[in-house]
Amino acid sequence: MDFHVPTEMNHEVERFQSFLDIQVKPHLTSWYHEKAIPRTFFSAMGEGGWFGFTWDRDRIWARPSLRGSLLIEKLARLSPGVAVAFLAHNDLGITGLRLFPTDDLLAGFGEPAVMGRLLLCLGNTESEAGSDVANIAMKAEKVDGGWVLNGTKAYVTNGTVSDLAVVTAVTDPKASRNSRLSMFLVDLSSKGVSRTKLNKQVWVPSDLTRIQMTNVFVPESHLMGGRGRGLQQVLTIFTHSRVFISAMTLGTAEGAFDLAIGHSRKRKIFGVRLADHQFKSFQIADLYAKMEASRLLIHKACWAMDRDMPFRLEASLAKYMSVQTAKEVTEWAADLFGAASVIYEHPIHKFPLDAWASSLGEGTQDVQRLVIFREVMSGFDRRR
Ligand SMILES: Cc1cc2nc3c(=O)[nH]c(=O)nc-3n(C[C@H](O)[C@H](O)[C@H](O)COP(=O)(O)OP(=O)(O)OC[C@H]3O[C@@H](n4cnc5c(N)ncnc54)[C@H](O)[C@@H]3O)c2cc1C
Repeated sequence: MDFHVPTEMNHEVERFQSFLDIQVKPHLTSWYHEKAIPRTFFSAMGEGGWFGFTWDRDRIWARPSLRGSLLIEKLARLSPGVAVAFLAHNDLGITGLRLFPTDDLLAGFGEPAVMGRLLLCLGNTESEAGSDVANIAMKAEKVDGGWVLNGTKAYVTNGTVSDLAVVTAVTDPKASRNSRLSMFLVDLSSKGVSRTKLNKQVWVPSDLTRIQMTNVFVPESHLMGGRGRGLQQVLTIFTHSRVFISAMTLGTAEGAFDLAIGHSRKRKIFGVRLADHQFKSFQIADLYAKMEASRLLIHKACWAMDRDMPFRLEASLAKYMSVQTAKEVTEWAADLFGAASVIYEHPIHKFPLDAWASSLGEGTQDVQRLVIFREVMSGFDRRR
């Protein structure tokens, strides 16, 4: 395995940092105040070429997943809440379109989505079905020329700002657990769609939305992949996006770590800089080691993904470790700032909350443990 990030990719990441310094940094205070990200952010990202890194044939990279993970890590260092809006569009929505396309869907929506002119989200979770994906209840009934959807998706990132949603629904209620669901691309301006923006305190300024569908007509051409394959397809999308949410979570840890290190070098307590108290210096070393271990797992998952090798275990290991690490790092970092850390406007305040949110998206830590356990058990005989 090669641990070297190609020079060309490092230049891309530097270019992305300059983009963030101009297009994102100056606006963050107002986005956090309004708890909203304007559409101009997504179009600027599209024009800059930052979406669709594994889809657009003109932009195929030698190691595209590694590039994607480095970009989202950078963005999350600055704002995990903006990074998750990027992730919902790019790694849930566009990834769905890329993995389970039809010619019509690609021709109609591929380019505008990659250019950020059209926004996507993914609605899977319902009030009675999160970790247990197969248990979802949204119904899709067959009618002439398409399907009619009824039900509610409880938590959808970007649900308020998006134009289209990748949605799972029950098409074959009498079929087995594995073949009840199908996947659709739903136009959110359709008659019968209503959206409620939820009041959350994590991943600010991204939006979280409840999307209700009442007799929403979806044309046959918007059925994604195969009928009855919705469960497998949505789990495949999550396996891919798990790698990028891991990178985003590492960025969350690093954002907090950077602030804390800066503070620890300035703040004197009992006449000594915080960083020079030996207990703090050991903690800094421990946490840095854990972040590096998370980084290696993420890069290994990217490495496997880009070589079309199995990466389900690697993705869950990366997610599990990066979340454990980010929870520890962000709590430690906030603690280093003392009482100042509880103030909403303080730059450290968001990080522990955003690390907690990372533990929920794309499967909780228990779900990662289940995947790791199953992969370990199934590989047991092979390894002996
Ligand atoms: C900020 C935010 C943004 C989100 N964005 C989206 C989105 O864009 N699209 C979308 O579809 N969803 C989204 N979600 C939903 C997210 O994917 C779910 O919250 C997550 O999958 C967990 O589902 P749940 O909330 O129903 O919890 P549950 O599945 O009810 O889990 C509750 C508890 O049970 C544990 N548990 C689950 N299974 C097992 C098991 N087998 N053994 C032991 N314990 C278990 C869990 O770890 C957890 O502790 C978002 C959530 C948040 C918080």
